[in-house]
Amino acid sequence: MVWKRLFGKQPEPEREEPVVAPDASGIVRRVPRAADPAMQQRLDALRRRHDMATYDLERAVSAREPENPWRERIALLERSLATIEDDLHALDALPILPGVPLPETPITGIEVDLEEPVSVSFAIGPERFLWEEEIDWDQRGGPVVKGQLQQRAGNVAALIPTSVPPDRREALSRHLEQSLNVFAIDLRDRALDGEPLPEAPTLADLARPCEACGGWRDWRGHCDECAARAYRRQTLNQEAARIAREQEAEEADRYKWSERLPVARKRLADIEADIAALEGR
Ligand SMILES: [Zn+2]
Repeated sequence: MVWKRLFGKQPEPEREEPVVAPDASGIVRRVPRAADPAMQQRLDALRRRHDMATYDLERAVSAREPENPWRERIALLERSLATIEDDLHALDALPILPGVPLPETPITGIEVDLEEPVSVSFAIGPERFLWEEEIDWDQRGGPVVKGQLQQRAGNVAALIPTSVPPDRREALSRHLEQSLNVFAIDLRDRALDGEPLPEAPTLADLARPCEACGGWRDWRGHCDECAARAYRRQTLNQEAARIAREQEAEEADRYKWSERLPVARKRLADIEADIAALEGR
C-alpha cells in the first residue's frame, strides 16, 4: 500500500490524522497529512483517484488471467445456450402422431341471418349448431359491427366417432370446438361480404390431419400445434441469438480491460509518486 498503516505506531492527535472510511476488510486506516497544509485538498483528491486507479489495475490484471469474471459469465451463458439447443432438438424430435380424420358427414342447413343480432346456424348429422353475435355498444351508443360470435347450441362431443383412440379424443374435441368457431365466422363474413357460402362442406373439412405434426388443421387449413411449435422455435432461436450477443459483449469488455493494463499500471504509479511527493516522502 502506498500510505503507511499506523497500527502499532504511536498515534498522533486525532485532529492531525483524518480518519478515512473503513476499507473492504473493515479496517479504518489513518493516513499522513500533506507536508504543506495548503496541499491537503489535493492530497485527498489524489487518494480518491488512487483507490479508483487501484481498482482499474486489478480489473485489467484479472482480464488477462485464465480464470476471470468475464470468462465465468461467458461459461454460464454457454450453459444456457446448451439448454436452448437441447430444447430445439427436443422440438425437432417430437413424434408425428398418426392422423385421425373425421368422417365426411355433410354440413347441412347452413343459415346466416344478418339481422341484429347476426346469427349463424347449421347441422352436422343430427346435431344442430347455432352462433349469435354479442351485441356490443360502442362509446357513441351505436351497435358495433361484427361483434363476437358466441356459440349458443351444438355439442362437439356428439361429433367424435367412437373409433377415435381414447388418448386423442380430448385434443380432437378441443380442435373441433375451435374449428367450428372458425367455420361459423367464415360463414358470417362471407354473408356480410356477399360471397357465396362454401359448397358441400363436411365434418372432415373441419379437422383434416396435419401431416407435419399429426394434429389437425382447422377449416382455414391452419394447424394450431404447428403454429405453437413454430412460435416456440422462434422464441428459442431469438433467445440463443441474444445470449450469443451477450457473450460477444463480455469478451469485448474483457479484451478492453486487458488492453488497458499498461496504461492502468502507469496511471497508478504516477498517482503514487504524486502522493509520496505531497506527503514529503
Ligand atoms: Zn401441424
